Amino acid sequence: MANENFPLIFERSKKGRTSYSLPEMDVPTVELEKELDDSYIRKTPADLPEVSELEIMRHYTGLSNRNYGVDSGFYPLGSCTMKYNPKINEDVARMPGFSHIHPHQEPEGVQGAMEMMYDLQESLKEITGMAEVSLQPAAGAHGEWTALLMIRAFHEANGDFNRKKVIVPDSAHGTNPASATVAGFESVTVKSNDKGLVDLEDLKRVVGDDTAALMLTNPNTLGLFETEILEMAEIVHGAGGKLYYDGANLNAIMGYARPGDMGFDAVHLNLHKTFTGPHGGGGPGSGPVGVSEELAAFMPKPVIVKNDDQYVFEYDRPKSIGRVKPYYGNFGIYLRAYTYIRTMGAEGLKKVSEYAVLNANYMMRKLEQAYVLPYTQHCMHEFVLSGKKQKKLGVRTLDIAKRLLDFDYHPPTIYFPLNVEEALMIEPTETESKETLDGFIDTMLQIAKEVEEDPEIVQEAPHHTVVKRMDETTAARKPILRYKKI
Ligand SMILES: *Cc1c(COP(=O)(O)O)cnc(C)c1O
Repeated sequence: MANENFPLIFERSKKGRTSYSLPEMDVPTVELEKELDDSYIRKTPADLPEVSELEIMRHYTGLSNRNYGVDSGFYPLGSCTMKYNPKINEDVARMPGFSHIHPHQEPEGVQGAMEMMYDLQESLKEITGMAEVSLQPAAGAHGEWTALLMIRAFHEANGDFNRKKVIVPDSAHGTNPASATVAGFESVTVKSNDKGLVDLEDLKRVVGDDTAALMLTNPNTLGLFETEILEMAEIVHGAGGKLYYDGANLNAIMGYARPGDMGFDAVHLNLHKTFTGPHGGGGPGSGPVGVSEELAAFMPKPVIVKNDDQYVFEYDRPKSIGRVKPYYGNFGIYLRAYTYIRTMGAEGLKKVSEYAVLNANYMMRKLEQAYVLPYTQHCMHEFVLSGKKQKKLGVRTLDIAKRLLDFDYHPPTIYFPLNVEEALMIEPTETESKETLDGFIDTMLQIAKEVEEDPEIVQEAPHHTVVKRMDETTAARKPILRYKKI
């Protein structure tokens, strides 16, 4: 957000200005220098900015004010579940009994932490309907990869070395084909039908005795619930393949439907999305995987088990694919997810899905007045609009996203999924009030009006931000992260 009184100046250095005053040094430096190899002794001063403490404060406070997060405003970034992260999670994650644990401590000495992880594991089993859960994977994509390794180990244990293909719908999240490839499989695409759901005929065409698994995102990236899951399960299981559930979108079905009950063999969850771990700044995340009885023997080890009254790490798992993360995994995120589950309770988690779906449908029905809605059935927790009507008037989806910045909103996900032209993918989440939803709807409708009446204002947006349109590729690929004197 622009602050006219505080322009973005990075170069604040003035020769001789300092932010400290130190007492005279009482270590004889001449002696020290004699001891040190000459190559370690600095000949010229370090090229650091010379600034006062007040200027440092203003510089960093100014930068932090320009940062945008869920705590500063509405963040409807589709597929990312940018819901509010309750602050009680932070209090619990900072409790010294948890935050002061050293990763080398023996389990006997940290039974409280072990119990928390065990309880979280048990809760996730209940929520997903799976037989076993491993908390280890560090993110959703890592969970996908972990589960695919288990599926391969399962096939190989059956002497089945021919299953080299993983089927991924064209409406899947991009990490699915990527994980399949990284896990050494060939990823095969199955098409969507005109309702935006997996085309069963196409699935029958691609499935075979070389199929290792089908990876299904449900609700899919169009925000639509795959209704023919049982038929898909029959087709894939019938061919000897396994069914993988990308559960990153669990926010839409939690408490109502369980991948385990639908016949899935493996699932991953995103604790940093559905279970309120803060994210968006690059981590840490957590992507636990749940598996069926059949795959349980292949889980990453160690597995946390309860023996009488003791919680222990069980290493004696001869078929395990091995460790996928050192120490306990991203323990701080477990604590946040655990606190969230305990504070919400079963009824609360059900309400989460209800409101997430209600909010998305409310917004979708209001916005379809002005934007093309390619798939018209009710959506789940998110929906995808097309900006093709606006494109005909010379305004692209990118321009609409940039115009939203002028109204202090984080834009939705754009140009994804790929099967919708000029896509705008919107996920309001359950934590937003009706006033916030209405505010965003009004703004989107106003922008649609501007496109018709005064397209230039949208084409040239943003007008009120500190930085205008930047070269996003270079900014991501070649970021300047260190101070350099100019
Ligand atoms: C976010 C997401 C992923 C990937 O999760 P990461 O934690 O970013 O690796 C996978 N699938 C879906 C549907 C997602 O929304």
